[in-house]
Amino acid sequence: MAMWTLLKEHTGLTESELRKYVDKVDLMDGKADGKVDTREKCNCTLCGRTILTTALACPYCGGRLHRKSVFSRV
Ligand SMILES: [Zn+2]
Repeated sequence: MAMWTLLKEHTGLTESELRKYVDKVDLMDGKADGKVDTREKCNCTLCGRTILTTALACPYCGGRLHRKSVFSRV
């Protein structure tokens, strides 16, 4: 578990504290399945190809994606 060592070194938190945090993050996608699903897909508004919702720009056509976020309440 290299991640634990890295986090412990950089945050000074104990492993149980880190695990509590990870469990919280894990529940953000509604399932305690050990991972957060960040692989949701959507279609590029410019070329229509399937891309990740987390992408800031389309990897196929390079178009910048304009989607609603907490930072842009338009
Ligand atoms: Zn595109």
